[in-house]
Amino acid sequence: MERGPPRPTVERECIVVGRQDYGESDRIVRVLTPDHGRVSFLARGARAGRSKWSGLDLATRARVRSRPGRGDLEALVEVEVEDARVGIRSSLERLALAAYACELCGALAREGHAEPRLYGLLEMALLVLDAAATDPLPALRAGLEAKALTFAGVAPVLDRCVACGGAPEAEMRFAPGVGGLVHLRCAPAEGTFRNITAAHAAALEAARRAPLRDLLDVELPPGPSDVLHEAIAAHLGRALSSHAVLDALLH
Ligand SMILES: [Zn+2]
Repeated sequence: MERGPPRPTVERECIVVGRQDYGESDRIVRVLTPDHGRVSFLARGARAGRSKWSGLDLATRARVRSRPGRGDLEALVEVEVEDARVGIRSSLERLALAAYACELCGALAREGHAEPRLYGLLEMALLVLDAAATDPLPALRAGLEAKALTFAGVAPVLDRCVACGGAPEAEMRFAPGVGGLVHLRCAPAEGTFRNITAAHAAALEAARRAPLRDLLDVELPPGPSDVLHEAIAAHLGRALSSHAVLDALLH
């Protein structure tokens, strides 16, 4: 059987959101694109010395030319790194938050669907982290998480009780399974709950609405640092693997 002409290549702007070793010397590179959501490439020979794909580090923005391959993996043809995010790699805390941002936006994005808002959020988060003069505070992370959930269509309710719609009282509960805050008296009999103050929930809601670049010097009132990650894990059905690293570093 004769082979047809090579399939046409596609060029895309993308951000690397995940990498995984494959076989002896290859690597699977997962990226987020504005127009096609999450895309996976097979980078042949990427783990050999002097590979032309070696610039595809996590969080890097690049223009990538690829060719549809077998199954879901596209074959890399050409890579032009546009932003290697050198600043992010100068600090463990910034790198950990960048890795979390990549995993978060990549996991919430769909394959083969336009995801311009998640792409824009990830690009802005990486720009802010890359330029930050100090290590990021929890408000930036909270804003990132809350916006990502919003852009994925599952915005957490933080300004009222999900069950009765009433205004928050000083002591509330956060129930990831039902989508946000509930009064103690309104909490369902079963499920996972976290104690949270109305003040902390209001700060998370403010972070959801604020531009990311304005959150670098914002302090959050005392409260649990991982309720929004619990909402993310409830939506995805799994925790994000980069979350544990981040939690250990920021606390
Ligand atoms: Zn209620």
